[in-house]
Amino acid sequence: MRPQVLFPLFAPVTSLPGIGPRLAPLYQRLVGEKVLDLLWHLPAGVVDRRFAPKVAEAPHGKVATLTLRVDAHYPSSSPKRPYRVRMADETGFLHLVFFHGREDWLRKQLPEGEIRVVSGVVEHFNNEIQISHPDHIVRLEEIAQVMAVEPVYGLTAGLTGRAVAKTVAAAVAKAPQLPEWQEPHWLVRQGWPGWHEALTAVHHPADEHSALGDTPARRRLAFDELLANQLALAMVRAQMRKLKGRSLVGDGSLRAKVLAALPYTLTGAQSRSLAEIDADMAQPMRMLRLLQGDVGSGKTIVALLAMLTAVETGAQAAMMAPTEILARQHYAGIAPLAEAAGLRVALLTGRDKGKSREAVLAGLASGEIHILLGTHALFQEDVAFKDLALAVIDEQHRFGVHQRLELAAKGVAVDMLVMTATPIPRTLLLTAYGDMDASRLDEKPPGRKPIDTRVVPLARLDEMVAGVGRALESGARVYWVCPLVEESETSDLAAAEERHRHLSQMFGDRVGLVHGRMKPTAKDKVMAEFAAGNLDILVATTVIEVGVDVPEANIMVIEHAERFGLAQLHQLRGRVGRGSRESRCLLLYGHPLGEIAKARLEIMRATEDGFRIAEEDLRLRGGGEMLGTRQSGLPEFRLADLAIHGELLAAARDDARLILERDPELASPRGEALRVLLYLFERDAAVRTLRSG
Ligand code: ADP
Ligand code: MG
Repeated sequence: MRPQVLFPLFAPVTSLPGIGPRLAPLYQRLVGEKVLDLLWHLPAGVVDRRFAPKVAEAPHGKVATLTLRVDAHYPSSSPKRPYRVRMADETGFLHLVFFHGREDWLRKQLPEGEIRVVSGVVEHFNNEIQISHPDHIVRLEEIAQVMAVEPVYGLTAGLTGRAVAKTVAAAVAKAPQLPEWQEPHWLVRQGWPGWHEALTAVHHPADEHSALGDTPARRRLAFDELLANQLALAMVRAQMRKLKGRSLVGDGSLRAKVLAALPYTLTGAQSRSLAEIDADMAQPMRMLRLLQGDVGSGKTIVALLAMLTAVETGAQAAMMAPTEILARQHYAGIAPLAEAAGLRVALLTGRDKGKSREAVLAGLASGEIHILLGTHALFQEDVAFKDLALAVIDEQHRFGVHQRLELAAKGVAVDMLVMTATPIPRTLLLTAYGDMDASRLDEKPPGRKPIDTRVVPLARLDEMVAGVGRALESGARVYWVCPLVEESETSDLAAAEERHRHLSQMFGDRVGLVHGRMKPTAKDKVMAEFAAGNLDILVATTVIEVGVDVPEANIMVIEHAERFGLAQLHQLRGRVGRGSRESRCLLLYGHPLGEIAKARLEIMRATEDGFRIAEEDLRLRGGGEMLGTRQSGLPEFRLADLAIHGELLAAARDDARLILERDPELASPRGEALRVLLYLFERDAAVRTLRSG
């Protein structure tokens, strides 16, 4: 149960003064629905209002705080003209300018003849001095509140800077004193303040630099978050380890049959990874291993061979993919091989209903089905195996920790193999998986030709279309990915539809279209047409599923490539270059292209090594953005910025390890405090792994 001391922070934002049902949705869009979400909404900069000149000395364009006498009101004479208030001191006068100003309100704020303190940007305009819509108008007694360094927060439409600042301040005021969860000596050595002090400090930055960067208070909070992340991962891992494992050693009979049926031999990297997996499975402990391999590196066959070991021991194996399309593709690739070895393979997705689903469930329960492939549907409650011994999760980064636990609960001491094609740099790997064992497929199957990648301005689109036309004549098959338009799926779609129309006019009915709004069955149908060669060009929004395998596809066009994460570009490019044909990738960029954007696309041109691309991108852009928005499934940090605080991550990992060695149940006083930390960062699932959690 969540500690009571945190209740005020988990209360809805409407528990704060002035936030009613009208404003709540705006705050929800900006930060989230809880008071806590406001605490983590850190300033994006500052406004320094300490500059307090006389009117005659107030320079154009600067924020200033002036003490002035209200001279006269000039209500607007027409809706187009602003309301003006003349204000003066002994050196001169200026006008406050209000568009759509309400007279009654303004006369109350600024009574003629009285003194008011006004703060805003001074403008020299047509030989007059003015401040339009001052940020603050207060009485002289309140001048100290205004003449300060003010935090500036990110906004959303409908909320003003002042309102957000006030609400965040109200949230910070609700923050309780919490028990210290950090090791005291470590805090002293780092020179870090306590949690409450740190929180207050980051919301009162002394200057621009400390708002953006790297103060002790900011580092402390970042470390808190990283520690919560690492501790949660370590706890889940410890939990999995604690559950009894079983030793799985096959006799190799099935594996031999499948290997004999393969039209190729395994690469060195595949054999090495498989040996690592075999060794883990043979241990009487639970396997929790990550198989990392670039797109096309051949992870599927490694997974199948591992599953065969489980089946050889008389048990069952399951493999889960994040999408229907991928699950079907696994089935298409795996079933013939496994069936050649005399096994029964079944597919279970959300689409299976009624009789066919019942038949699969019966086969699983009786043990007649040896290998089950599918999607999240594998989790459903009534899916029961006779004896599940190995679970493989493909493209694992889309699954959360608790899903991993759920799948493991489907059998006794289930070994876990998780596979990802996302080339995650070591630092990020740690945030996503903690100290998981990892095997890397760092060698591609032989015969792959390099992909000729070009970076071309969109202005040359016609030329590119003509080039694609020529390539089509010699039998090319083309993916055409349309721009990602942020925040609007509709405009994504419009762009893709427009391109589809355009290309159909040029190349006729051999141009298909897939997008995220289509029904899964319709999507599958178009993809299948493309795979079968009935379509030559497939126009797509980014729904081209990670991992979809059409070996004949050899040209990838990506419009507005600069809007994609590099890892995403790399994944997309990995759709081509799988067959024996020469392949090409055209990265079309829009103007203007900044320095970093240029450098990023240049990396794509220079290398096909996913790990190098990921490292370089991390260097250029920082971890948060590396994989392009939220699609990566990697944990998103609210306070830690891996580009700045990356080196704290290893310290957090070591600390987490030490904590669990000394106090695995988090029962000591520090352990109790650490539980609060885990709840604070919403790692509740980890706390539930504790006996007394
Ligand atoms: P991914 O790692 O992206 O999941 P796949 O497992 O889909 O890659 O494999 C990509 C393609 O490479 C498949 O068509 C597969 O048959 C082929 N492949 C896998 N291993 C080898 C190998 N050792 N030699 C040749 N082709 C291979
Ligand atoms: Mg795959």
